[in-house]
Amino acid sequence: MTVPLESLPNRPDLIPSPAAGILHGFLSLDFEQQATYLSLHIGDNTARDMDTIKALVELGDSVFPDLAPEVKIGVLRIFDTNAFAQGNTSGIFPKASKINHSCLPNAHCCWNDRVGLFTVSAVRNIAAGEEIEICYKAMCRTREERAEDLSVQNFICGCKACDATTTFGRKSDERRKQLAEIEQALSMYLNVPAQILDVVPGFDKRELLRVLNVMEELLKAEGINDIYRFDP
Ligand SMILES: [Zn+2]
Repeated sequence: MTVPLESLPNRPDLIPSPAAGILHGFLSLDFEQQATYLSLHIGDNTARDMDTIKALVELGDSVFPDLAPEVKIGVLRIFDTNAFAQGNTSGIFPKASKINHSCLPNAHCCWNDRVGLFTVSAVRNIAAGEEIEICYKAMCRTREERAEDLSVQNFICGCKACDATTTFGRKSDERRKQLAEIEQALSMYLNVPAQILDVVPGFDKRELLRVLNVMEELLKAEGINDIYRFDP
């Protein structure tokens, strides 16, 4: 079940979006799908709630009169908590929403344009009985930053990387800080065609290779190198 915003009617004169688009998508679901949607986790974030309430005030009672105000708020909060990126838009994928978070995930999920499905793929061998976990947010962030990112979902991570009492946990924070700096430094080269790189002022191929090697070692030490190689 998805609620892709791009498939919703484009009537900004009648229905402000995206809040109205989400409510319209919810109303287009059948009863069973609506029940599944409403069973999803609701995050607890005051700032988000204020945005939601503001959006509802803008909608007014004349729009979606069949939905009680508290149901509208619930639908929007569930969307805020559970929506995944789906190309240029967002969608709700209930089965994927049930997968727990880890900063050291064993699986990766994303909208896969090639097959037109939201896919979940293992990034390493997963033992029978082992929980499948994905990373909800950006991985190359410090423990504190990740905790803040996850607060939208009202989620406190208990993974090895988030445990500051262990040597791994403390070193992990340093490694992720370094990885974030490398990602930032490399971002300027991301969309530059290889044949042009050589003539970019200040570009040093050997230095780039050195940085990429450092990055690979950091990713391996962190145990997230497989996810970086992942291409759905
Ligand atoms: Zn964690």
